[in-house]
Order: sequence, then structure tokens, then C-alpha cells
Amino acid sequence: MGKMIISDDIEVRQNEDLSRYSTFKVGGRADFAAFPKNAEEFKSILFSLKENGQRYTVIGNGSNVLFDDDGYRGTVIFTKYMNNTEYIHMNDKIRVRAECGKSITELAFEAGKKHLLTGMEFAYGIPGSVGGALFMNAGAYGKQISDIVVCTECYDTASEKQMTISAPEHHFSYRKSAFSENKNLIVLSSVFELREGEGGEIFDLMNKYMKNRKEKQPLDFPSAGSVFKRPADGVYAGKLIEDAGLKGLRVGDAEVSEKHAGFIVNRANASSKDILELIEMVKDKVYGSSGVRLECEVIYIPSE
Ligand SMILES: Cc1cc2nc3c(=O)[nH]c(=O)nc-3n(C[C@H](O)[C@H](O)[C@H](O)COP(=O)(O)OP(=O)(O)OC[C@H]3O[C@@H](n4cnc5c(N)ncnc54)[C@H](O)[C@@H]3O)c2cc1C
Repeated sequence: MGKMIISDDIEVRQNEDLSRYSTFKVGGRADFAAFPKNAEEFKSILFSLKENGQRYTVIGNGSNVLFDDDGYRGTVIFTKYMNNTEYIHMNDKIRVRAECGKSITELAFEAGKKHLLTGMEFAYGIPGSVGGALFMNAGAYGKQISDIVVCTECYDTASEKQMTISAPEHHFSYRKSAFSENKNLIVLSSVFELREGEGGEIFDLMNKYMKNRKEKQPLDFPSAGSVFKRPADGVYAGKLIEDAGLKGLRVGDAEVSEKHAGFIVNRANASSKDILELIEMVKDKVYGSSGVRLECEVIYIPSE
């Protein structure tokens, strides 16, 4: 394990168990885990690690990643303490600035309940952070984060500069963004545009979406949501997997969910290796039965 050189004020832990920070509940130990509380701390960590040639990765809520059983050689930067929000009223428009670690489910709830703002209901129930949602262009029920983004404050670790990018500069497409295409670009905070709404309607919609999730998704087991991307418009990975007869297929404690074939669940003590093996089996079998090559949505983070 190397040394990590950053300011004394910033919380850094050694030998941290990554399974605690992944919704799959899988992963070994990271050499270092850093927890910035604001953009200045975040930038100073990124700067120090780069100057010292040390490996790092950034994690929001860990709901779309699969950590390695051998953990992570380097530093995992967790943004969970960067969760401030600010509401900006501009004539008839209302914008909210949220730091990268803010939970999008909490943001949707806060905007809807406290501020009676509509436009984020779709995000209620997605267990991601603002940074992770921008990276993945997270979406549900026909809406995506790209529909409401005005601009994002980011830090470019290549040029070591902070900048604001406009909505078109995010280059959003299905589960892709400027951040997934250029890993040097790190989200610090983002501004979303919402509208004044009617409290009852906002709540009805959020409750409807949550009810739907509880009915259709295996929320009682750890998972990372849908494992595969939608192969094409109107073609669903879950349906192809179900049609191939793969519901219930297991490697160790990793299982293709009986409730929703697009999910792989950790039934108890699945390893990262079990999950990766099951993903490959599913890909092969679906290709054999349908000719469709599934692409992983979940991001595997190798130990080195
Ligand atoms: C039960 C369940 C249901 C789900 N339902 C949905 C759904 O309906 N729709 C959907 O789209 N997704 C869904 N997901 C997947 C997941 O919640 C989303 O992809 C979410 O946006 C990931 O956010 P996160 O903060 O957890 O990202 P993480 O898993 O922490 O990270 C994902 C990627 O984003 C990068 N990243 C994180 N923060 C930053 C940052 N500040 N700057 C740059 N890069 C960053 C990471 O490096 C990583 O590459 C679901 C997951 C679960 C477990």
C-alpha cells in the first residue's frame, strides 16, 4: 500500500471495506478512501493524487458499479458528503444547484415536497447521486437527467481547470455523457431547471413511480439495478433474458432475478467474480437465443 499525500483537514481512511459503499454489497478493501466535504477539498484531492501519479476513482452512491473482490489499489474518492442544494428563483423559472454527492431521490423529494417543484419526479427511487446520474444520464419513465440540466460545474483533471459546461456540452445520449466519454472530467455540482407545480400531483406521480418500482424490481436483495443497456429502442434486455429462460440462473450467490430478469441480485454472499461470470453466461446465452449482443450498463472497477 503506497502513501497518500493530501491536506490534514480532509477525511481519509485506510484499508476501507468497499462492500459497504456498493448497492451490490460486494468488493474488497481500498488502500485509501477519501471523503471531501466541498468542491475545494475535492479538487485538492484530485490535484494531489495526479501530482503524485496515484490511481483514483470517484464514487457517488455506488449504485451502478461492481467493485473487485481484491478491492482497489489506490484511492476511492466518495462524494457522499457533498450534498448541498441551493434554490434560485429567476422570474418564472426556478433552478436548483446541487452538489455532486446529493442523492437524486432526496433531491426529487426535497424539490417536490419543500418547494412544490415539478420535473424531477422520474428520479424518485433511482438510488444514485447527481454526479453518477450525470455520468450515466440516468432516467426512468420516459425522462432522463438530460431533460432538466442547465449547466454543470466540473473539474478537468487533465488541464487542472474548473469550468462550467452548458447543456449541449454534456453530449448526452442513452446512458452516456461527456463524463462517461472523458474520465478526466469530474462533476462538482449541477444546475437543474424545474417548474412550479401542484403538490398533490407531484406526490401522486412520485408515489406511482415508487409503487411501480416495488412491484417490478427485486428491491429486497442487493443489486445495481439493470445490469445491461437497452440494446435498441423498444428492445429490453430483461425481456431477452427472460425469453432465453435465464430467470433464476445462478453462479454462487449471484442470481438472475426471478422478479426482473434485467437485474442480477446478490442472494447473500456473492463475490464480484460470481457476478462477472454470471454476466458473461447471460451475454453468451442471450446471443445464442436472439443474436443480440448485450452491453453492460454496470461499471466494473478492477483492483489494479
Ligand atoms: C435498485 C436500483 C434501481 C435503479 N434504477 C435505475 C433507473 O431507474 N434508471 C437509471 O438510469 N439507473 C438506475 N439504477 C442505476 C443507478 O442508480 C444509476 O445509474 C445512478 O445514476 C448511478 O449513480 P451513483 O451515484 O450510484 O453512481 P456510482 O455507481 O457511484 O458511479 C457510476 C459512475 O459514475 C461516475 N461518477 C460518480 N460520481 C461522479 C462525479 N462526481 N464526477 C464524475 N463521475 C462520477 C463513477 O466514477 C462511475 O463511473 C438503479 C440502481 C439500483 C440499485
